[in-house]
Order: sequence, then structure tokens, then C-alpha cells
Amino acid sequence: MNPTDQAGHSAAPGTRRYDAIVVGARCAGAATAMLLARKGYDVLLLDRASFPSDTVSTHVIHPPGLSALRRWGLLDDLIATGCPWLPAYAFELGPLVITGTPRAADGTAGAYAPRRIVLDELLVRAAQQAGAELREGFSVTELIADGDRVTGVRGHARGGMEISEYARVVIGADGVHSRVAEQVSAAPYREGPVLASAYYAYWSGVPATEARWILRASRGYGLIPTNDGLTLVLVAWPQADLAQVKHDLQGNYLREITAALGARLDGGRQETRIVGEGVPNRFRTPYGPGWALVGDAGYAKDPVTAQGITDAFRDAEICAGALDSVWGGGRGYDEALGEYQQLRDERVLPMYEFTSQFGNLAVPPPPEMLQLLGAIAGSQQAMDDFVSMFAGALPVPEFFSPRHIAALTGADPERPR
Ligand SMILES: Cc1cc2nc3c(=O)[nH]c(=O)nc-3n(C[C@H](O)[C@H](O)[C@H](O)COP(=O)(O)OP(=O)(O)OC[C@H]3O[C@@H](n4cnc5c(N)ncnc54)[C@H](O)[C@@H]3O)c2cc1C
Repeated sequence: MNPTDQAGHSAAPGTRRYDAIVVGARCAGAATAMLLARKGYDVLLLDRASFPSDTVSTHVIHPPGLSALRRWGLLDDLIATGCPWLPAYAFELGPLVITGTPRAADGTAGAYAPRRIVLDELLVRAAQQAGAELREGFSVTELIADGDRVTGVRGHARGGMEISEYARVVIGADGVHSRVAEQVSAAPYREGPVLASAYYAYWSGVPATEARWILRASRGYGLIPTNDGLTLVLVAWPQADLAQVKHDLQGNYLREITAALGARLDGGRQETRIVGEGVPNRFRTPYGPGWALVGDAGYAKDPVTAQGITDAFRDAEICAGALDSVWGGGRGYDEALGEYQQLRDERVLPMYEFTSQFGNLAVPPPPEMLQLLGAIAGSQQAMDDFVSMFAGALPVPEFFSPRHIAALTGADPERPR
């Protein structure tokens, strides 16, 4: 099939020059395409998947991510899908239990954890409604360049012939194994190894009202309520154990969750097969001549702190704003996209470091951390602060500031009670 006919456009493939081609149409790509299209730009959004479809990812969207959905006019649509509101997060850290409410980021407290078949579909359709041209089932195989400047992409629809499309900028929103990043040799930095691999399935009959993280003896577990009355039940293993675990993934998964969650699974039924993976910890330079990266393509991290979707939304907003300031405001491309990189890194770096420590199941938490968590567990305000920090609604440096730590551990008369 001629992909141009499929998209409903009369121009032949390659004869039109878009403002942006976005490769990857999930939380980073669809959001970026939507925001650019809403500003009136001509956007082509490509994904080898079709929508609605699932991807390997659990679902917690923290308050800052919900604020983005609210700003974009999509939060009510998400709520209308029946996705349960999660007023609290709970952490079981050995014998300690920390339960608190993530504070609101401009009016949106708590969290939602929508299935990706729900969230990504919503974003993709919003991008289309804004005027972006969507081609599903379209795989990008390589980038086209004029000298060192990227000018387009080459790829094909399922079973179709190879075609080329051109744009002022090609945006890689193609996830952690980004073809765009690989093709432009986007420089990695602050790299760390894959720490853990998380595997999960959906269960019926396991009622839960909050998102729960459980860390015990080099294993992580998660219970996350999502759409359709289902609860996602997750196990994370240290990366070094994975080869052994994979010899009998389903058996090991069941043994682990039965031992760790016990009666909480009584009456429950596993409804889907197990999926999962480990994620590298890595930043990449997110722009260059004619290209940019958003979402996991530009910045990936262990999913233990559930930051990826919220980060993808932030990238989409900052990157789309930077491109608009170039095309609509006459700003220099390098200056605007350099600021995108700087803002991204400034905002996520403290959480990246916290995530790298929290997600390292192979090493027990350091004694200072255990001491701190012990002190937090005694105070509701301190637990709310911890949960808010985890949720990105209280800056990590503010939470770990000497003054705040002193207050939490009782070294300060202003200690929260
Ligand atoms: C086990 C696990 C649990 C997680 N839990 C959470 C959580 O609770 N909360 C949270 O916020 N984050 C979580 N994450 C992280 C989150 O999934 C990612 O950060 C997020 O999906 C990144 O979005 P993205 O749009 O950048 O990439 P993706 O969601 O990976 O989307 C990339 C898209 O690009 C398309 N694509 C790739 N290559 C091509 C190509 N060559 N041509 C065309 N299309 C292409 C793919 O088909 C895909 O649709 C989790 C991740 C894992 C692995």
C-alpha cells in the first residue's frame, strides 16, 4: 500500500517537507507531536506499532506527569477510562512501612497508573486531533543526511516498499533502543549498568487501593492497581540473577510473589503472561543538526522510581517549546536545544542518582539510608515528604538537604510530627 494514500494525503511520499518527523508515538513521541501540531507545525508521527497496543512498562504517573496531562486537556479523558485514582504510595522496606500521599503538583495530588493500551492510545489520538499525520505500522530503518545534517528518514510500512520522508528536524522518541540515537551516534554520558530486571503480569481478584513497592533481601516487588479492575504484580531481580531466573521465569515469578505477598494474592488469578526487561541507566546528548531525542531515547533509567512517563512528558514540553522558539521566535537552534538539554539534566539528575541507589537490589541500602527511613516511618508528615520526593513533587535536593534531614531525624526542634 502506498503509505501516502494510507495517511490520506495527496502528495506523493517524499515530496513534502514536514517541520518535524517524530519517530515513536508513545508517551514521549505522541506528546511531542501533539504539542508541535497544536502550535501549528506540520508533523509526521511514525511508529512501527499500531494503536492501541501494549509495551513493556508499568504505569505509575506521578503528580508532575498528571499536571502535564491536565495542562494538555487530557487528564479528564484519562480519568474517564475508569483508571483508579491512587491517593497513596506504600513502601515496605524490610520491617519498615512508609505510607504517604504524594503532594499535589499544581492541583493534582496522588497518582494514576493507566495501562499503556489506554495512555498511549489517548496521546496518539490527541496528536492526530491536533493535526499530526500518524502512520502506524511504519518502521524507520535509517536516517537521511545532507552532510552532518539530518534531513529525513527512510523506512517502510508493514510489507510495503521503502520510502523517504523529509523534515526540518527528526525527533527520536523511539525508546531505549533508539534507532535514531544510534544513527546519529548521540553521545552517552553518566552511564551506569542495568541494575535490575522487572517482570510483571496482570491479576484479577487482587484488590489494591494504593501503589505499593516492597523491597526485601535483594528482590523488589510491586502491586499497582490499573484499568479494568486489574492489579499489576511485579517482581524485580538483580541483573546478575536474571540468567538463572529465566530458566523458569513463570515458576520463579510465582514462587517469589507467593513467598513475598502471601495472603494478598488469595483468590487472585494471573490473567496475562509475564513480560518485563531491565533498563540501562544513561543520558544521551539529545540534539544535533537536524535531530533531537525525547523520552527514553535521550535519557533512560531504572524504572524502580517510575519516572519515565513523567520525564517523557517533560521532555516533550521543553523540546517542543525549544523548537517553537527557533521556528517561531527566531532563536538559534543550538542555543534553544542546548537549553533543552541543560533543563532536562538539571531537573532529572538528583532523581537519577536517587534511582540508581534505590534500584540497586544487589546492594543493601546504606546504614544512613536505613536510619533515615526508620526516622521517617514514625511521622506522617515525614512519610508524606518521602513519598512526595519519590513522586517528583518535592525536589530531591530539598528532601535530602541537611536541614530537612536534621528535622526528620530529630536533630532539629522543628521536627515534623
Ligand atoms: C518494567 C518497566 C516498568 C516501568 N514502569 C514505569 C512506571 O511505573 N512509570 C513510569 O513513568 N515509567 C515506567 N517505566 C519507564 C517507561 O516505560 C518509559 O520511560 C517510557 O515508556 C518511555 O517512553 P518513550 O515514549 O520514550 O518510549 P517507548 O514507550 O519505549 O516508545 C517507543 C516507541 O517507538 C517505537 N519505535 C522504536 N523504534 C522504531 C522504529 N525504528 N521505527 C518506528 N517506530 C519505532 C516503538 O514501537 C514504541 O512504540 C517502566 C519501564 C519498564 C521497562
